[in-house]
Amino acid sequence: MTIKILSIASEAVPLIKTGGLADVAGALPAAVAPHGVEMTTILPGYPAVMKALSRPRALHTWDSLLGEKARLVSGKIDGHPLLVVDAPAFFQRDGGPYVDGAGRDWADNWRRFAAFSRAAADVAGGAVKGRKFDLAHAHDWQAAMALAYLRFAPPEAGSRIPSVMTIHNMAFQGHYGADLFPALALPPQAFAMDGVEYHGGVGFLKAGLEAASAITTVSPTYAREIRTPEFGMGLEGLILSRHGQVHGIVNGIDTTQWNPEADPALKAKFGVKSLAKRDANKRALEAEFALEPGDGPIFVVISRLTWQKGIDVLLECIDHLVGIGGRLALLGSGDRAMENAFHAAAMRHPGKVAVRIGYDEALSHRMQAGGDAILVPSRFEPCGLTQLYGLAYGCVPVVARTGGLADTVIDANLAAVMGGVATGVQFDGVHYAALADAITRTVTLYWQRDTWRAIQRAAMKTDFSWNRSGKAYADLYASLIAETP
Ligand code: ADP
Repeated sequence: MTIKILSIASEAVPLIKTGGLADVAGALPAAVAPHGVEMTTILPGYPAVMKALSRPRALHTWDSLLGEKARLVSGKIDGHPLLVVDAPAFFQRDGGPYVDGAGRDWADNWRRFAAFSRAAADVAGGAVKGRKFDLAHAHDWQAAMALAYLRFAPPEAGSRIPSVMTIHNMAFQGHYGADLFPALALPPQAFAMDGVEYHGGVGFLKAGLEAASAITTVSPTYAREIRTPEFGMGLEGLILSRHGQVHGIVNGIDTTQWNPEADPALKAKFGVKSLAKRDANKRALEAEFALEPGDGPIFVVISRLTWQKGIDVLLECIDHLVGIGGRLALLGSGDRAMENAFHAAAMRHPGKVAVRIGYDEALSHRMQAGGDAILVPSRFEPCGLTQLYGLAYGCVPVVARTGGLADTVIDANLAAVMGGVATGVQFDGVHYAALADAITRTVTLYWQRDTWRAIQRAAMKTDFSWNRSGKAYADLYASLIAETP
């Protein structure tokens, strides 16, 4: 029997993306399909999403969706069923899904995503004729209120269904003042400690976590970390109290996009059995970044330039990295002061340090294929994708031991090297001494050429495709549905 899931997300590739959430929401339908799950995705009708619909047909209309007219239209996303909440007053705007053209959050984001969530709850709860779902799966704070609506104000025709709330990044929680509660159109009892109330205000993610039958996050280590104040960011108590229902499922990578044997972006395609061909990519990377040619290791960084990613500590370590014979190529954008500091470092170390500010998907592929090691010194990392691409491309990950980085990389300690299972380098604590030491260890390992090759091979053989994670989600859905009377 096929089970039917409504996946509620504010972004999904290939239609709309600002971060890792879009990759996961976009990949899930295909990942769970082999395990007897039909997943329908529901998205807000941003201009990019509406444009991608061919001849949208209205399945349902709302005269007042939190005060605005809206309709539900259907389409396809990568061949899987798609529903779109077409509410022009909320979503037909230039700019990003969450920010205006100047990069400022839309002032009415709370109303936009409460309205999207209200619509999704109606759909999940069976208010739309001909559409029935066995479970609702909400992603992040933008979709979390759907589970609160299902709990406190389900559609009249609806039946009770179980639900899953996934946290992609605990740093974004959707906190607002209590003054907006009346506008959410929830019954008064919803404004309670175990409901949508959060420290006297309203918490969207918190409301979803309270309402969900099960909670997932994107790695087992992050699932444990968010029980502590440092990572839980105010929700650690809730997570701890529900720890029996909290699961960590690591994201997969799209192996059609990220396969070094068939990647059109590369100078030379290569595989685990033809690692020598990788060298042509290293020479091409030197040329592209105007790095001095040489035999020594090239470290690469592909990242948002933010405090979360430990980029400030990386900046402190650049002189050390160059001092022991390393070179560095960085691609990223974000914090202006960090961007400027990297430009300054490149001026200080011409031919040794090179920087590209911006977002460039194809270049990121060439860097993974030509770099020797990828640095990921994140302070917290719910799952992380760049280290998974590094593994697949034999670009050895050098990572902080946190979240998904801890779960996906095997540190090259003596036992792991002797056993031939090491896939990277891990370090504890994101500060100068720890990262500098990890860089030194990496350079030492690099010059032990046979050991380095073995690490690259073990890395490339690691399977982080969606197969395993798709089954984990499908099993969770099935168990929750079986438990629901
Ligand atoms: P996060 O979602 O926190 O930014 P992840 O590692 O989970 O971190 O995902 C980041 C994704 O964005 C990866 O696919 C990475 O390759 C990509 N990425 C980040 N910065 C850039 C950039 N400047 N150019 C190209 N790709 C980038």
